[in-house]
Amino acid sequence: MARHSRFDILFEPVRIGPVTTPNRFYAVPHASGMTNTMPRMRAGFRETKAEGGWGVVCTGYVSVHPTSDDSPLPYATLWDDNDVRSHALMTDAVHAHGSLAGIELWHGGGSVSNKTSRFPPLSPSGLSWMATHVGFMGNQRSKAMDAADIRNLLRWQAEAARKARRAGFDIIYVYAGMGYLPYEFLLPEWNQRTDEYGGSVANRVRIVRELLEVTKDAVGDTCGVALRISLEELRSRRSERAESQAHEVVELLADVPDLWDVKMDSSPTDCSPSRFTGEGSHEPVIDFVKKMTRKPVVGVGRFTSPDTMVSQIKRGVLDLIGGARPSIADPFLPKKIDEGREQDIRECIGCNICISSWHDSVPVRCTQNPTVGEEWRRGWHPERVSAAGSESSVLIVGGGPAGLECALTIARRGYPVSLAEASDNFGGRLRFETTLPGLATWGRVLDWRLGQLQRLPNVTLYAGNELTVNDILELEHQRVVIATGARWTRMLYSTLELPVGELEQAHVYTPDDVAAGAYLDGPIVVFDFDNYYMGSAIAEHLTQSADSVTYVTPAGHASAWAIMTNEQPQVHRALANAGVRLITLSRVVRFELGELVIANLFTGEERRLPCHSLVIVGARLARDELYQALMARRQELAPAGILSVDRIGDALAPGAIAHAVHSGHCYARELDSAPGSELYRRDAPIVEELPFLYDDGTGECVAR
Ligand code: ADP
Ligand code: SF4
Repeated sequence: MARHSRFDILFEPVRIGPVTTPNRFYAVPHASGMTNTMPRMRAGFRETKAEGGWGVVCTGYVSVHPTSDDSPLPYATLWDDNDVRSHALMTDAVHAHGSLAGIELWHGGGSVSNKTSRFPPLSPSGLSWMATHVGFMGNQRSKAMDAADIRNLLRWQAEAARKARRAGFDIIYVYAGMGYLPYEFLLPEWNQRTDEYGGSVANRVRIVRELLEVTKDAVGDTCGVALRISLEELRSRRSERAESQAHEVVELLADVPDLWDVKMDSSPTDCSPSRFTGEGSHEPVIDFVKKMTRKPVVGVGRFTSPDTMVSQIKRGVLDLIGGARPSIADPFLPKKIDEGREQDIRECIGCNICISSWHDSVPVRCTQNPTVGEEWRRGWHPERVSAAGSESSVLIVGGGPAGLECALTIARRGYPVSLAEASDNFGGRLRFETTLPGLATWGRVLDWRLGQLQRLPNVTLYAGNELTVNDILELEHQRVVIATGARWTRMLYSTLELPVGELEQAHVYTPDDVAAGAYLDGPIVVFDFDNYYMGSAIAEHLTQSADSVTYVTPAGHASAWAIMTNEQPQVHRALANAGVRLITLSRVVRFELGELVIANLFTGEERRLPCHSLVIVGARLARDELYQALMARRQELAPAGILSVDRIGDALAPGAIAHAVHSGHCYARELDSAPGSELYRRDAPIVEELPFLYDDGTGECVAR
């Protein structure tokens, strides 16, 4: 198929200083969780985006010097020749597909704790970023930078830029965003300096200008120099000279960088979850930049619709369509638009599981794209699968995320596949969960897979078919895959975290009961120790039918784990707006006569809450009765022609939707692979020498 002409504009080249992009698709810097300890995995991950048509592919944040050490978070480094070689794997791979490679050079300043390098962190005035935030808790504060520190910072940036050019990068960043060092200079709360770097906006912006200038002096003849800057806070501040301080900053630097990469100030607003924020949410903050510079502008907004992308360009908001999450969920998004296959785009659902991987310091995971991070180590390509290894026909029981993904991948391999679902509709847990406040976008997990399955000739879909053991024995499939999901339990835990059994009594419910339409009489208490989205989403949902909903959790916050997905700050606001009362650090003691007794975790102090319905959102157990029943009759399998029975997804080990999708995909990839074949290739750092890092006084940070 050919590209639709209205999308031609997306495929125009854009000049960035001395380099030119092949199109307007720009995979912006974002952490991959794969540091220099996994350089081949990282190169494979980034290469796939270039192959998929992203005209520019960037790294995540790359430290310019050991005084910028974000451990235990997974940052990359460019400190020595090993690092140069490590990054060169990526630039070679990206160039092989005709794309440009960008590197986000980074100094964390007062936002890092230097836990590994043990240098004092540096900041404009000795004030650290996120100092009250538990997730960023460190017990060392920063040193106020003196004039020598500022000179060093400029030398480190210039030297790192030269190393980046040696590693083959085409676009080199100065990063003044998200609480990192140059950003700290921009805001007067952190920058209380009285020298030429503090005070007026012109003074506060000086360090950014100088970083851009030294980078240009170092590599500007061959590489584009980009400025990545957070404008949210600055835009909210009054200026005597311009519409806002953000306008003033952009005016002062207008044509100094070759590219403006504009963004928000904190991860929850920059990478906001779809539960609370829609596509294109940055526009009101960054829309003015293009009017104040002749240089191209790139920005993000979880863009997955090509029409929205075209509109951003035609309305003069952006020149380049930035993508982090959309490029993870579908590295082949640009190619699909180019080939007139927009309907094949696997759209990001905005769940931010990818971001949780960074918080977890592990390689990136994605709910929509199970191949992400597996490109090199397992050889999983998002668009290619190996041909079927046998003539077997495959029966998958259960049409949730695991069953759908498994069926699709097996069918793409060419096996005949039957997918049976008890309910009249496919989707499994998504059927209910997408009806909860804010979660409709997650329905893309179902929609994309069902849409693809319906177009494949070797797939038979049976909705409204609850299969029994007898059915399965009669259906004459060689491979049987059980994807029957998990159930929420009424399990409670003791103070020592021992599972003490299920609370089997009247008026105690689980999310499954709510999904099945149970009527819950108020007042309602939701007791949540699952700690992800379900507890808070159900509490919010129940306020639509009950006057009094209280949310109780042993954790310190509502949806405590959702801090990992940037959802948690907004969960608190959503619960407050919905009128849900919140009680933290508490466990359920007993439930009787319209009263729930809870106790403080630490003091044991008891409280009584009026409660007619208790919803426990806690432990899930595999719903694998069908599997167990088949195993009980295993001697009948071979006579029925069944070679194997396996479980996938929640029926194997309950988890998030991302786990189920990955599990279903993994089964499909490995079907008929040789017994005893390897799990995956293990990556290792590139170490040709063990350097002693030293600073020779010129900014060199090299091996001796
Ligand atoms: P996962 O996340 O692992 O995909 P889900 O709970 O989302 O699990 O989906 C499991 C699906 O399996 C549900 O849609 C459920 O209706 C279906 N299912 C459970 N038992 C049977 C059965 N015996 N026959 C057909 N479908 C079943
Ligand atoms: Fe999008 Fe979720 Fe995948 Fe992240 S994990 S790219 S938010 S679908």
